[in-house]
Amino acid sequence: QVNICWFRRDLRLHDNAALYHSLKDGLPVVPIFVFDKAILDKLDDKNDRRVEFIHHAIADMQQQLQSMGSSMEVYYGVPSDAFRKLAGKYSINKVFTNHDYEPYAQERDAAIQQQLNDAGISFHTYKDQVIFEKDEVLKDDGKPYTVFTPYSRKWKAKLNDFYLKSYPVEEYTTNFFKQSPVAIPSLKEMGFEAVGLPFPSAETRKEIIKKYKEQRDFPAIDGTSRLSVHLRFGTISIRDLAREAQGLSEGFLNELIWRDFYHMILWHFPQVGEGKAFKKEYDFIEWRHDENDFQKWCDGQTGYPIVDAGMRELNATGFMHNRVRMIVASFLTKHLLLDWRWGEAYFAKKLLDFDLAANNGGWQWAAGSGCDAAPYFRIFNPYLQTQKFDPKLQYIRKWVPEFEGFDYVKPIVQHELARKRCLEVYSKALKK
Ligand code: FAD
Repeated sequence: QVNICWFRRDLRLHDNAALYHSLKDGLPVVPIFVFDKAILDKLDDKNDRRVEFIHHAIADMQQQLQSMGSSMEVYYGVPSDAFRKLAGKYSINKVFTNHDYEPYAQERDAAIQQQLNDAGISFHTYKDQVIFEKDEVLKDDGKPYTVFTPYSRKWKAKLNDFYLKSYPVEEYTTNFFKQSPVAIPSLKEMGFEAVGLPFPSAETRKEIIKKYKEQRDFPAIDGTSRLSVHLRFGTISIRDLAREAQGLSEGFLNELIWRDFYHMILWHFPQVGEGKAFKKEYDFIEWRHDENDFQKWCDGQTGYPIVDAGMRELNATGFMHNRVRMIVASFLTKHLLLDWRWGEAYFAKKLLDFDLAANNGGWQWAAGSGCDAAPYFRIFNPYLQTQKFDPKLQYIRKWVPEFEGFDYVKPIVQHELARKRCLEVYSKALKK
């Protein structure tokens, strides 16, 4: 008999709740990962670097497991088939995994639980990707918060060493099932190709966190952690990171709270992840349906240097600085009056750190439709944002080198006109 530990967005062998509980349970543990066809088939870019990132992370784990005489079993297919194959190979007692809060994941997990239970196998799930999950930080009346500041106050008041403690997986590693190496399907076999560009490092740099508050808003500075892709796929532990940040920077900890907040919102209000505005009246906005303008925004050809720099950074690297994400999102929804869902979908394709909860939260914040969003009449002025946050134009020069010359495209829309149009269209919808 064996137990199974099923990895998903927790791709590490240290401080991992489900892994710890599976090993501690006593039976030999077979670690597994499924490259889920239901997700991969929806990616139309065969060079999608997120698949490459996962592949790297799995290969790393495989190496560590092999040094302990064990091996991960990696499947390419749908999870239900993978579990059928596993059940043919092993006598399975329990399956352990960590919570995943996205609507697709919830459906998948409910179906797998049913399938396993029908076969007499129990399914055990744990909190791992966040510090406080769905129902742990609630208002006094037991309802979820929809405003960040009071949520963050309660979050901080509840925090203590218990919640930041690592799960000491290393104490139980002798319980991994011993077997000779099992091959991992190659990217090619799954229809993908490696691009080979470097990924952000998983190292937490203390000096960045210490100076976070002063430096975080300047895209030309290396002033933010760049850990988002690692938090997304669990190649670092949120508990380790929060523990390190404690005492170094309250501002940085605050961003980790935003992350918990948006996960909590998606759990309680799953409709936001299915294209609905959190504030219903925002669904009356009459968006323009101008695909040409949308394409120019995607390509970084709007004639607004800070917007174009951001979009070009995204297209080239899969990353965009947070300040610039806010500027380009505001520009799309307010200056161009294009539906935030178009921008959300584009980011979902391009961002290495794409995360449904944070991305949706960010987009609805910018559009004004989110739970605790920028008010609709707050329209970022791209020129003032540039003066404040890229005063020496270093970021712009890096990504839009032609911007001071004749070659640079003319602005797609004039700022004052766009502002007026936005206020008119938004107020018409919000009066309904
Ligand atoms: P740091 O500034 O170093 O922050 C540390 C960590 O805190 C981040 O890695 C991230 O996990 C978390 N975090 C920071 N800001 C936020 C935030 N506003 N909401 C939730 N978590 C946050 N973040 C994503 O992880 N995935 C997304 O798909 C995503 N889409 C976004 C879309 C828009 C329109 C906007 C405005 C923001 C979006 N963000 C998203 C939030 C934020 O921009 C990124 O997390 C951040 O830029 C990542 O860089 P970093 O790791 O250097 O962050």
